[in-house]
Amino acid sequence: MKNLKDAIWGFIVGDALGVPYEFSTRNMMKENPAVDMVGYGTYNQPPGTWSDDTSMMLCVLENIINKGTTKDLANLFIKWYKEDYMTPHGELFDIGITTSSALNNLIKGVKPSQSGLNDELSAGNGSLMRCLPYAFVEDIAKSIFNMAMENRITHRHYLCSLCCIYYVKMLRSLMDGNDKQESIKIAAGYLRKGWRLTDSEDDHIEARSKFAKLFSQDFYQLHESEIHSTGYVISTLEAVVWCFLNSDNYKDAVLKAVNLGGDTDTIAALTGGLAGLYYGYNDIPKNWKSKIANPTLINNLLEKSNTKSKFIF
Ligand SMILES: [Mg+2]
Repeated sequence: MKNLKDAIWGFIVGDALGVPYEFSTRNMMKENPAVDMVGYGTYNQPPGTWSDDTSMMLCVLENIINKGTTKDLANLFIKWYKEDYMTPHGELFDIGITTSSALNNLIKGVKPSQSGLNDELSAGNGSLMRCLPYAFVEDIAKSIFNMAMENRITHRHYLCSLCCIYYVKMLRSLMDGNDKQESIKIAAGYLRKGWRLTDSEDDHIEARSKFAKLFSQDFYQLHESEIHSTGYVISTLEAVVWCFLNSDNYKDAVLKAVNLGGDTDTIAALTGGLAGLYYGYNDIPKNWKSKIANPTLINNLLEKSNTKSKFIF
C-alpha cells in the first residue's frame, strides 16, 4: 500500500541530494553531474543534510497531525525561523526571500491571512515545497481548502495555490493506484476547476496561458532545454513533473532533477515525493536513506501520522 512514509522519505532524500548543488548552473552540472549523495558544496553542510523545504513540510505535517489552525502553523514557521525548530542539525541555514519577508510581517503583527506576498515576483516555490502532507488527509477537498488558506501565510499569489493543488492531486491519484499519465490528467482536470478559486477573470485567462505548457499533450517529450529549473513556481512544477515522467525508478528521477541545476533541492525534493510514493520506500537507495540527518525527528512524526493506514486521518 502506497502511503505517507514512501512520499516523505522520497521527498527528504531528494532534498538532501540537491542541497550541495543549489544555484549550480546547468552547464556546471553537465561538466560535473551528481551521481551520489554528497555533502558540503553550496551551504557547506555534511551529506544527508536536508533544507528549509523539509523543515517547512514537516511543520505542515505536524500541524495536520495536531489538527492545528492556520495561526498554529504560522507559529510553527516562526519557531523554525527564530528558534531553529525542525532543523537537521539544530540550526537554520537556508530560507527563501519571500518566506523570510512574510515571516517578518507575521512577527510585526500582520495576520496570517495577509502576511504573504502577492506580486508575481513573489510567486516562488516556497509554498509548493511544503504542501506534500495535505495529499494524505482523507477529506481531500477540505484539505485542499486548508492548504490554499495556509499558503497565504507566505505566498498569496494565486499561481502558488494552483501549483500546490496540481501537485497534491497528482500525489493523491498515484496513491489511489493510477499510473503517471492518468495522474497528470486527473491533476490537470482538477486544476481547471481550481481556477474558480480566483475571483478575477484576468487571472482566469492568465492561468490558462501559464499552465499551457504543462497541460500540453507532448509535455513529457519536451527537450531538456525547454525545462527551466528555477524557483518560479510554474517552472519548478514543470521541472518536477518532467523529471518524474522521464524516468522509471526513484534514483534516476531525483538525479535527473538535481542535474537540471538551479533550484536543485526543491526540484529534487518534489520529484522525490512523487517518485518515492510511486516506486515505494524500498526503491529509495538504502545508503542514501542511512545518511539522512536527524532520522529520529522524521520517524517520530511518521509514527504519529498513522502510517499503517492510508490516511493521516
Ligand atoms: Mg531548500
